[in-house]
Amino acid sequence: MDNSSQLFDVIVIGAGVMGSATAYRTAKRGLTTLLLEQFDFLHHRGSSHGESRTIRTTYPEEYYTSMALESSRLWEEAEAEIGYRVYFKTKQFDMGPSNQKSLLALINSCHKNSIPVRVLDRNEVFEEFSGIFQIPEDWIGVVTEHGGVIKPTKAVSMFQALALGNGAVLKDNTKVINIEKDGGTNEIFVVTEDGKNYRCRKCIITAGPWTRRLIEKVRGLALPIQPLETTVHYWKINEGHEDKFTIENGFPSFAVYGAPYIYGTPSLEFPGLIKIPVHGGRTCEPEDRTWAAPAALVEKLREWIKGRFGDLVDGDKPVMTQSCMYSVTPDRDYVIDFLGGEFGQDAVVCGGFSGHGFKMAPVVGRIAAEMVETGRAEGVDLTHFRIGRFEGGSKGNVKDFEDQVGSH
Ligand SMILES: Cc1cc2nc3c(=O)[nH]c(=O)nc-3n(C[C@H](O)[C@H](O)[C@H](O)COP(=O)(O)OP(=O)(O)OC[C@H]3O[C@@H](n4cnc5c(N)ncnc54)[C@H](O)[C@@H]3O)c2cc1C
Repeated sequence: MDNSSQLFDVIVIGAGVMGSATAYRTAKRGLTTLLLEQFDFLHHRGSSHGESRTIRTTYPEEYYTSMALESSRLWEEAEAEIGYRVYFKTKQFDMGPSNQKSLLALINSCHKNSIPVRVLDRNEVFEEFSGIFQIPEDWIGVVTEHGGVIKPTKAVSMFQALALGNGAVLKDNTKVINIEKDGGTNEIFVVTEDGKNYRCRKCIITAGPWTRRLIEKVRGLALPIQPLETTVHYWKINEGHEDKFTIENGFPSFAVYGAPYIYGTPSLEFPGLIKIPVHGGRTCEPEDRTWAAPAALVEKLREWIKGRFGDLVDGDKPVMTQSCMYSVTPDRDYVIDFLGGEFGQDAVVCGGFSGHGFKMAPVVGRIAAEMVETGRAEGVDLTHFRIGRFEGGSKGNVKDFEDQVGSH
């Protein structure tokens, strides 16, 4: 169907997890919604595909903790509406040197947000996880009950189905090449590569690693959102130990603070395998990727796996590697703001999720939908996510602890 004559309340650009969750929210609020995607729906060229993402409330930055708590509730709400599961709960286990500033900030942030948290020494960690994790003597472990795994491709598909079910129109293989504002009527025209103009009152840009390029074209604004290519690695659990790494047996989602920042999820999507990658990546352009992991990075993972899991996991080499993209800002905080300029509050940008956005998609969708409908988002302080923080070449928010995402 050709929808180019219809005036939509909202057009959402980009159908990764953020755009799909947002289209669901705007449609659910009764706004006529069009979701446009440049590639096939559920493609593997952006950031939202694959089999697992971690959800946790443990963040050194306090402002993410309350968002993650709300998101957790909204994931369950969406699951109840669709009737199947995408979110699997377990404990979250963060670990690292006892003087690591990000880890200490994270404990503090849990206290401030009233999240029950247990700080364990080496022996207590050994006991907590039945001897699976062996951490060094001078490390601590931090355990909370709010961890888990989300199945990303299934979750994006869920939001698209919910958006459709709530009346949204979805179009893939439709690349947006410009967005224009008609100063007379205040309508926005979304111009696509196939020569069509789609009309709307409000527009939400959720273009992931393509965000910088699109915003530059539309507003002449060079947002510091850098695409990184990253890889996910699956390792074989040695025979006879497979059950120890499952959610049913209490295995957590986990993160290692320090360099490199390693993370992992329980054995779930591929029985007998466990996902253990490094958080970070190599600078790239979305169309210019190596699709491979640097050998030095795999070496670091091998060492870490052998040190932590001994002979429980085959740390010789990963049995499967997948490629994905982050879009990082200099301070690793999101961009959620009005586009400004001639668009004022009629366009919203949600990008720069810096490798830690998936868990927040439901709350980002809720925020973006409220911003276009009412001009503000309830119950959340968006100060840290403003575009203006990068003015004058600034690196953005200042933090008193180490970066969690590095380039390698
Ligand atoms: C390997 C990996 C592991 C991760 N682990 C975690 C984790 O454990 N926990 C967590 O919370 N987060 C995690 N993340 C981060 C999370 O996945 C991302 O923050 C999130 O998926 C970003 O979604 P997005 O919708 O902004 O971007 P994308 O998924 O890239 O979606 C953007 C979409 O916009 C489309 N688009 C772009 N330009 C246009 C255009 N001009 N016209 C039409 N369409 C356009 C693109 O094709 C794309 O589909 C991980 C990311 C990766 C890569």
